[in-house]
Amino acid sequence: MRKPLMAGNWKMNLNHLEAIAVVQKLVYSINDKDYDAVDVAVLPPFTDIRSIQTLVDGDRLRLLYGAQDVSPSANGAFTGDISAPMLAKLGCTFVVVGHSERRSVHKEEDGVINKKIKATLAHEMTPIFCVGEDLSVRESGTHVSHVIRQMRAGLANLSKPELKKIVIAYEPIWAIGTGKTATPQDAQEVCSAIRNEMEEIGSREIAQDTRILYGGSVKSANIAEIMKEADVDGALIGGASIDPEELAKIVKFHQST
Ligand code: PEP
Repeated sequence: MRKPLMAGNWKMNLNHLEAIAVVQKLVYSINDKDYDAVDVAVLPPFTDIRSIQTLVDGDRLRLLYGAQDVSPSANGAFTGDISAPMLAKLGCTFVVVGHSERRSVHKEEDGVINKKIKATLAHEMTPIFCVGEDLSVRESGTHVSHVIRQMRAGLANLSKPELKKIVIAYEPIWAIGTGKTATPQDAQEVCSAIRNEMEEIGSREIAQDTRILYGGSVKSANIAEIMKEADVDGALIGGASIDPEELAKIVKFHQST
C-alpha cells in the first residue's frame, strides 16, 4: 500500500519567524493517528529551513520538510544557488524539482530538471518531480502525451533503484493558484497514465510503489474527492498550505475514508 503524502509548497511566503509560528500551529493540530495514516511535509523557502529543522529535531516532530528547488551542481561559482549537499545537511527529506513556476519564470528546461533530480537522489533526498500541461495543451487534448514526454525527459538515464525513490506531482498549470481544480477524473486520467509510464521505464513493482500526487487549488473542501481516485496518492498544496489549520484539515482527509 502507498502511504498518502500531503506536501505544502509555501512558495515565496513566510519568513523564518512566521515559519516557526505556522509549523507550531500545524503540529498542534496533527496527532500520531494522522502521521500513521499520512506523511505530512512542508516545503518552505530556503531561509526557513534551518528554523524548521531546529523545531523538528528539538521536539522530535514527525513532520517532514524539504526545499522548493536545488542546484544541479554540488558547489562552486553559482551565485545565489543552493546545493543538494547543503539541503541534505539541513535534514531535508524532499526537494521539489521542475515546478511549473521554475519552468516558466526561470526558464528551466528538461535537461536541467533531469540534472536536479540526479543531484537530489545523489544526496539521499526524494525529488518531488512536477509535470503538467498549460491550458492550450489541455484544450488541444494532448495533455497525456505532453506529461509523458516531460516524464521521460526528467527521468532520463535513471537506474531502477533511483526511479523507485521518485515522487511525481501532476500539476495542471491551469489549476495552479487559479481556484480552478481539475476534476477527480481529470486527475485520475493523467495519474494513471503516469503510473503506466513508470511501469514502461521502470517495472511493475516500481509503478505500484510510486507515489503520484495531484496539485492545483487543493483545499480541505475538495481533497477527499480527489483522494478517492485509485492513482492519486496525495497532494502538493500551494496557497492553502500557508494556513496551518487548513493544511491540518487537508491532512485529516483520511478520517473521511
Ligand atoms: C503549487 O504551487 O504547487 C500549487 C499546487 O499551488 P495551488 O495549490 O495554490 O494551486
